[in-house]
Amino acid sequence: MGKVGFGLALSCAVASCTIAAILVSRRVKSRRKWSRVVGVLKELEEGCSTSIGRLKQVVDAMAVEMHAGLASEGGSKLKMLLTFVDNLPDGNEKGTYYALHLGGTNFRVLRVQLGGENSLILGHEVDRQPIPQHLMTSTSEGLFDFIVSKLEQFVEREGNGSMSMLDKRRELGFTFSFPVKQTSVSSGILIKWTKGFSIEDMIGKDVSECLQQAIRKRGLDMRVAALVNDTVGTLALGHYHDADTVAAVIIGTGTNACYVERTDSIIKCQGLLTKSGGMVVNMEWGNFWSTHLPRTSYDIDLDSDSPNPNDQGFEKMISGMYLGDIVRRVMLRMSKESDIFGDATSRLSVPFILKTPLMAAMHEDDSPDLKDVSRILKETLEISDVPLKVRKLIVRICDVVTRRAARLAAAGIVGILKKIGRDGSGGIMSGRTKSGETSSRKRRTVVAIEGGLYTSYSLFREYLNEAVAEILGEEMAPYVVLKVSEDGSGIGAALLAASHSYPSIGPVNVAIK
Ligand code: ADP
Ligand code: MG
Repeated sequence: MGKVGFGLALSCAVASCTIAAILVSRRVKSRRKWSRVVGVLKELEEGCSTSIGRLKQVVDAMAVEMHAGLASEGGSKLKMLLTFVDNLPDGNEKGTYYALHLGGTNFRVLRVQLGGENSLILGHEVDRQPIPQHLMTSTSEGLFDFIVSKLEQFVEREGNGSMSMLDKRRELGFTFSFPVKQTSVSSGILIKWTKGFSIEDMIGKDVSECLQQAIRKRGLDMRVAALVNDTVGTLALGHYHDADTVAAVIIGTGTNACYVERTDSIIKCQGLLTKSGGMVVNMEWGNFWSTHLPRTSYDIDLDSDSPNPNDQGFEKMISGMYLGDIVRRVMLRMSKESDIFGDATSRLSVPFILKTPLMAAMHEDDSPDLKDVSRILKETLEISDVPLKVRKLIVRICDVVTRRAARLAAAGIVGILKKIGRDGSGGIMSGRTKSGETSSRKRRTVVAIEGGLYTSYSLFREYLNEAVAEILGEEMAPYVVLKVSEDGSGIGAALLAASHSYPSIGPVNVAIK
């Protein structure tokens, strides 16, 4: 071999060694990065752990906080608001009733025709209307004049006027999903606006009176017979169809719960008397907090970045508004620790860009190559060409976040059952033990559930149902039924207008058994 040939061979050998070294070093680096990503996932799994032991601690904490909230005003993060609803519809209501639901950017008007027996709903019409943006921050007069003008148009379409000949006056149930301090079943003071509404002149005013004034101005003969929170509407519809319904839970964009409490347990309101001896209590459970809740750094950051830090802690862990964003935060951390999503990760920094329904679609993608995950990553986050193993990792993140949410909501539900002695444990039942309690502990108990997260996200629903059964145990689980109460927040208000209308329908006792 000549000198030139030797030199060439040497440089070739050096070059291949260098390439090999680069490849090895890349592989080592990429393995190191992948193990960092796996580490982030492991940490998330540990942080979100909801062992049965932990869930039982949450159950106990919920029951204890409920007690505290009933004992004194401000005694707990749970407000435990009185609703003055002391009789729930039982299926014998008769006639045509209206409901108005204001709770966000849309409002709904409903007309419900009740058959008078066997929980028969003869007809049910709904009209949805968007609230023009400028009215959300205008005056109470502006807002209610607009709502009532739409209500009037809806009333005019009623059975060609024939029903209106029969009815002396129309009764209306008003579902108002903003914080209200209730003063009677049909009146309450607005505490504050949320969800983008800001009409200063209405704070401190009676919400029903604002609506009633606008109705009067328009010359409509209509009475606001019930002012209710959406959970109370859900409970009312649940009870209308099934008398064993004692609580209602909403898990949609936000979350809340209400249940039937004995008036003698509402210590902060001494001397409260109702015919039935019971009253529906609006827990405002989205604000529940306990150190037993499994909280991660993502939850802490989400809370401090939110417009309401230290508020609605439970809601931020379990409701539809937030789950997608928790997943986004985990993905963002992973992309910072490694380059698993390549360069195009800037969209991952946009708060709330990953909505919960999209997150659910990735979670429920059952195609072998996770096609939906690829599509959503590309369309929503502008991340393309994500390898299968990374897509699988994303599905796993969705699973961890959703499973935690569903199981905590389940613990909350069992917490309510424990408070009213329906969880089979004999729980916190101060002052309510009757003879034959052993058998009453095993009575059938129904919880009405509403909200898009529960009704449209099957894995969430399965995890929740499974966890309720797991916490209650084999013996008790068959006695507790979770029942979807479709559109309860609207129809339920009309039902409450019926059960709180004029004496043609006698008061129906809330079952406190
Ligand atoms: P709201 O709570 O605003 O009254 P819904 O009860 O219909 O309305 O709940 C809507 C919420 O439910 C959405 O904001 C979303 O978080 C969640 N949601 C709706 N559909 C799905 C879905 N397919 N998968 C997961 N979450 C969903
Ligand atoms: Mg709703």
